[in-house]
Amino acid sequence: ADKLARVKDALKSFPDFPKPGILFRDIFPLFRDPSVFNDLIDLLYDTIKESSPGVQCIVGLESRGFLFGPLLAQKLGVPFVPIRKKGKLPGDLVSVTYDLEYGSDTFEAQKGSILSGQKVVIIDDLLATGGTMKAACDLVEQLGAKVDLCLVVIELADLEGRKKIPKPLKTLITF
Ligand code: IMP
Repeated sequence: ADKLARVKDALKSFPDFPKPGILFRDIFPLFRDPSVFNDLIDLLYDTIKESSPGVQCIVGLESRGFLFGPLLAQKLGVPFVPIRKKGKLPGDLVSVTYDLEYGSDTFEAQKGSILSGQKVVIIDDLLATGGTMKAACDLVEQLGAKVDLCLVVIELADLEGRKKIPKPLKTLITF
């Protein structure tokens, strides 16, 4: 509980960013204190150990999922695989297009990066409407893998993104 309190205290909120009416939750301040960053990694690691004991691959979502995904994969002794926005990854790809508040976006992953049948944990910094995490689940399943757990640091409960996620979802902090 101490670790969680320290992580929560380190977060900052910015009203009207990036648009009027949006309260933006900023996780970068917690990286300024190595001991708080360490607390966060411990909390995420313990959650994975408990909720996805047989995890075989950590998938991080561009871009803040890349901040903790590789560290966790290393600690767990499993591969890290990125899911990126369209046009950033070379080679043969699978893709999924998903709706945003205005317009749409496309996620891509490299064929062969996640093996068919693997138990996967998907990690990102924040769940808002859930569209991003849902798209990531679809992409992982396109590769024939199994989403064992979706894990985010922050959940914005009012937006009810959780309802959109067809897989087990764990979050450390709920606003
Ligand atoms: P969703 O698809 O609406 O759930 O949005 C989640 C995505 O938007 C995540 O990849 C987040 O990084 C980003 N996002 C949305 N709101 C915030 C915020 O308040 N702070 C940081 N990232 C956010």
